Amino acid sequence: DRSLTDADPEVAAAIAAELRRQQTTLEMIASENFAPLAVMQAQGSVLTNKYAEGYPGRRYYGGCENVDVIEQLAIDRLKTLFGAEYANVQPHSGAQANAAAMAALLTPGDTILGLDLAHGGHLTHGMKLNFSGKLYQVAAYHVDEHDHRVDLAEVERLAHERRPQLIVAGWSAYPRQLDFAAFRRIADDVGAYLMVDMAHFAGLVAAGLHPSPVPHAHVTTSTTHKTLGGPRGGFILSSAELAKKFNSAVFPGQQGGPLEHVIAAKAVAFKLAAEPAFRERQQRTLAGARILAERLLADDCKQAGVGVVSGGTDVHLVLVDLRESPLDGKQAEDRLHDIGITVNRNAVPFDPRPPMVSSGVRIGTPALAARGFDEESFREVADVIATALQPSPDAEALRARVTALAERYPLYAEGVL
Ligand code: PLP
Repeated sequence: DRSLTDADPEVAAAIAAELRRQQTTLEMIASENFAPLAVMQAQGSVLTNKYAEGYPGRRYYGGCENVDVIEQLAIDRLKTLFGAEYANVQPHSGAQANAAAMAALLTPGDTILGLDLAHGGHLTHGMKLNFSGKLYQVAAYHVDEHDHRVDLAEVERLAHERRPQLIVAGWSAYPRQLDFAAFRRIADDVGAYLMVDMAHFAGLVAAGLHPSPVPHAHVTTSTTHKTLGGPRGGFILSSAELAKKFNSAVFPGQQGGPLEHVIAAKAVAFKLAAEPAFRERQQRTLAGARILAERLLADDCKQAGVGVVSGGTDVHLVLVDLRESPLDGKQAEDRLHDIGITVNRNAVPFDPRPPMVSSGVRIGTPALAARGFDEESFREVADVIATALQPSPDAEALRARVTALAERYPLYAEGVL
């Protein structure tokens, strides 16, 4: 059989270049991480060849005896990790998990109440071009103008005014924790289901470093590739009572054959997430974000018009506020890219600039924590970022500091992949 290099040198070369990029730059996109070797080995396995429509023990195809073992391991490990009665590991992505969860609980035309995309919500929480905004009526809550925390009084008011069938708590760009118990109380008051989308902070929950939404939500959805550090994918957690609804919404509702190679990789990731080393890595993730926020709140940053949304962080990311800075989000993203740090521009609440430019950058620490960054190294990268966002920085000097950090923490040893 021909190797990839033989069969397709163009794709092989681009993959090799991507490996090099990941090794030589600092990845600080808050939704990204580095999957461990064991996860990639499971995903790059013969399981990619197998059709397995249905669920373990109830398949529509023969020859499922091995994938049944794997999928059941993934389900059992996931239920234990988050203390859930029911788990579905088949959603191909976080968006698919949300689509299935909503399809299970709602009828098109029903109303959902979610965090506004411009204030940190996700596309699948009701954005008008997304399935969620097309199939359902949408009411959106916001963060408070002064403290940038979710305005629970507004959530409560909108819940009573709009009578949603589903309230969504969760975010893609929000640096604080949500009060899940308060969301549940509001949902119960108006007879709505509560869905928590923990895609971003699932790894922190697994490590016991962030409150768990699972005891409060009717349904909890997630991705597996962000803080959780697994393969790209999604899952759904719920009570045993609602299990049937979610199983049939995923298959046959939304998907055909499950990606058993990805499910095997999820099973591996769930096993690793229960180990002490995972908790220690999540602690460094949180410490890194706090260190970055503190550095960006220093006087030199203030003078350059650089601030931090909500004045700090409780999670794995910092939202840099550039509303007072001559640099917009796009320019800041480009400037950091130029010195070898990868981030994404992001609207901040009450952003005066258009979304394609925006007045913020979202910076996360999970991938650097996976590389092994300690507090001292996070202090160095925080200082590089803070310096880069000042007027006329010395790009060459900053690039050298980034290269030194990348070299100190090798990623994917040569020849292993
Ligand atoms: N939910 C939240 C809160 C997210 O941040 C994301 C991804 O950014 C998703 C869902 C969607 O996940 P995916 O990209 O796997 O569809």
